[in-house]
Amino acid sequence: MNMTNIILLGPPGAGKGTQAARISAEYGIPHISTGDIFRENIKQGTELGKKAQEYMNKGELVPDSLVIEIAEDRLQKDDCRNGFLLDGFPRTVTQAEALDNFLASNGGKIDWVLDLEVEKDVLMKRLLGRRVCKDCGATFNVVGMPPKKEGICDNCGGQLKQRADDTEETVNNRIDVYNNETKPLVAYYERIGNIRHLDGAAGLENVFNEIKRIVSGS
Ligand code: AMP
Repeated sequence: MNMTNIILLGPPGAGKGTQAARISAEYGIPHISTGDIFRENIKQGTELGKKAQEYMNKGELVPDSLVIEIAEDRLQKDDCRNGFLLDGFPRTVTQAEALDNFLASNGGKIDWVLDLEVEKDVLMKRLLGRRVCKDCGATFNVVGMPPKKEGICDNCGGQLKQRADDTEETVNNRIDVYNNETKPLVAYYERIGNIRHLDGAAGLENVFNEIKRIVSGS
């Protein structure tokens, strides 16, 4: 069985989560979002959740040591045997190096880094309009991708909510943090040679088709 190890890179609002759900279904690999793991921990009121929440509410990054530990823990689960899709991790060069070392020690590597590029004004619009199902996590957008019934999830009928960190102030900070701390990963993966750049504003279907083309190697 072929392993397919993918990283989705791109600023908040680039469409990583939306594409991740499709890629995960297409290739049968788990969608691993460190943000989702933190949000789940916040919901459950765990120690990890309490620590992470302080940073998340301000739009800052959770410290590397904490993130690396939970990511490695997740990657050791059985369902990652045939590959995995990382969404929102790594976010710093330290995290990327830790990930490479972890994979190398298990004889693995990252096959593709898919970099979704989107301009800031589009990101702002998307993030402020984003609504997430509180039960199944499906994402909608009041502007571009509205649910059939306002406030209700198309998939499961759950209630749609705004993410706590999708406020104007926090969104601005998250985009700055992305540019300062995560953008250097582009150069990091350029050196390795496994990164591909995509126009994240090209529309859901077009972006997904482009991803499939890259991953299938055609
Ligand atoms: P996301 O759902 O990927 O937008 O992540 C939401 C928030 O969780 C981020 O703004 C960070 O505060 C935190 N977070 C998620 N993943 C990471 C990571 N790899 N490194 C540091 N902080 C993270």
